[in-house]
Amino acid sequence: MDKVKITHIRAREILDSRGNPTVEADVEIEGGGKGRVAIPSGASTGSHEAVELRDEDPDRYLGKGEKKAVANIAGEIADAIMGKNFDQRKLDAFLRELDGTPNSQRLGADSLLPVSLAFAEAVANKSNIPLFRYIQTISDTKTTKAMPVPMMNLLNGGKHAGARADFQEFMIVPTGIGEYPEQLRAGSEIFHALQSILRNKGDSGLVGDEGGFSPRFNQNEDALALLVEATKKAGYKTGKQVFLAIDVAATEFYKEGKYELKLDKKSLFSEEMILMYERLLEQFPICSVEDGLSEDDWDGWKEMTKRLGGKTMLVGDDLFVTNNNRLEKGVENKAGNAILIKPNQIGTLTETIAVCKTAKAAEYKIIVSHRSGETEDAFISHLAVGISSDYVKFGSLSRSERLAKYNELLRIVEENV
Ligand code: PGA
Ligand code: ZN
Repeated sequence: MDKVKITHIRAREILDSRGNPTVEADVEIEGGGKGRVAIPSGASTGSHEAVELRDEDPDRYLGKGEKKAVANIAGEIADAIMGKNFDQRKLDAFLRELDGTPNSQRLGADSLLPVSLAFAEAVANKSNIPLFRYIQTISDTKTTKAMPVPMMNLLNGGKHAGARADFQEFMIVPTGIGEYPEQLRAGSEIFHALQSILRNKGDSGLVGDEGGFSPRFNQNEDALALLVEATKKAGYKTGKQVFLAIDVAATEFYKEGKYELKLDKKSLFSEEMILMYERLLEQFPICSVEDGLSEDDWDGWKEMTKRLGGKTMLVGDDLFVTNNNRLEKGVENKAGNAILIKPNQIGTLTETIAVCKTAKAAEYKIIVSHRSGETEDAFISHLAVGISSDYVKFGSLSRSERLAKYNELLRIVEENV
C-alpha cells in the first residue's frame, strides 16, 4: 500500500462496558479517509502485557482516568506524525520507536494502539475497501471465504463475575454447524435455553462482564454439565455440532506454586491440574482449554501440552500476551498449541499481525479475542477475518458491546462472498 499523509488526529476519553474510561482516537489522512477506533481493557490481565497508562488521579474515575493517554496522542504523537507520510508498517515502527520501551510503558499501549488502528481504518476508507480486506492486504493473508468459528462465553466466573466459579469462562463452540450465521443462531438459542433452565431453578439470570450468566455453582464442572444440558434443550448435539471450551485464567488463582480452587476446595500442583483436565476431557466434549496453567509455569505448560495437546486446543492468553518473543519461546518449548490475539496486549496492528504470522508458521491455532471491558467498536471482527483466524472469542449473546462484534461478522459474511 502507498504511503499516505496524516492530516488530523484527535483523541478523547470515552467509557467502556464497565463504565470505566478508555481511549478513542480519530485519524484523518489526505484525500479524505477517516478512521475512529476505541480500545478495550482487561480485568484478568497478564503481567507481561503492554502497559496501560492510567492517570492514577484518585479524584477522577477512581484513578482510572485516561487523560494522560489522550494528552500523549494529542501532544507528542500528533506532533511527531502529523503532516508526514506513512504506511501501516512505517507508522507502527515509528510509534514503537517514539515510545522507546519494549512494553509501551512510556506512552502507553492505550496511546499507541488507538492511533495505529484508526490509521488502518482511515486508509481502508480512503481506498474504498472494507477494513478486513485492508488487513488481508497488509498481512499478505490469502483471501478465504471461511469465517472464524465463534467461541461463545455463556457462563462467567472468576474476576468477571464476583468469583462465583474459579474458572473464568465456560464457552460453547459450534464447530459442527455449517456457516457462521447458523453458528451464531445456535449460540443464541442455547443462551436462551440456558436462561430458561436457570430461571426454572430459581436463579435470577444475572449476567457477568462478558454477558454470560453467573449462577452459583457447587463445583466448577457443574458449569460444563449445565452447558451440555442447555445445548440439548435447544435441540443441538454436543460432541457433534457443539463443543465446549473453558478459559481457566489459572494465573488468577496461582499462589506460591499451587492452584487454589476455592469452589472445589482443592489446592493443586500443576501435575494435579493436568490430571483434572484429563478427567474433564473424558467427561465432556471439550475442544479448548485456555490458560489452564499460570503465565510463568513453563514446565507445567510443556507437560500439559505433551499429555493433552493431541486431544484439545491449549490456548495461551496470559502465557503469550500476543507477544512474538513469548510465542516463539512457547513454540520452541512446545508449550500450548493455540494463541489468543488481543491487540491491546502488544500495542500496534503491525506487531499483532507479526504474532499471527509466527502462530501460523508454527501451526498454532489463532483466536482473535475481545477484552472483558469493551466498547461498541468492532475493529476486531475485521482483524479476525483479515488475518484469517480460526476462531473468535467475543463473549456471550447478550450485551451490545459483545453483539457489536458478532453482528459485524454477519455484515462481513455478505461482503466476503
Ligand atoms: P480480560 O479477560 O479481558 O479480563 O483479560 C479475557 C480473557 O482472559 O480471555
Ligand atoms: Zn483468557
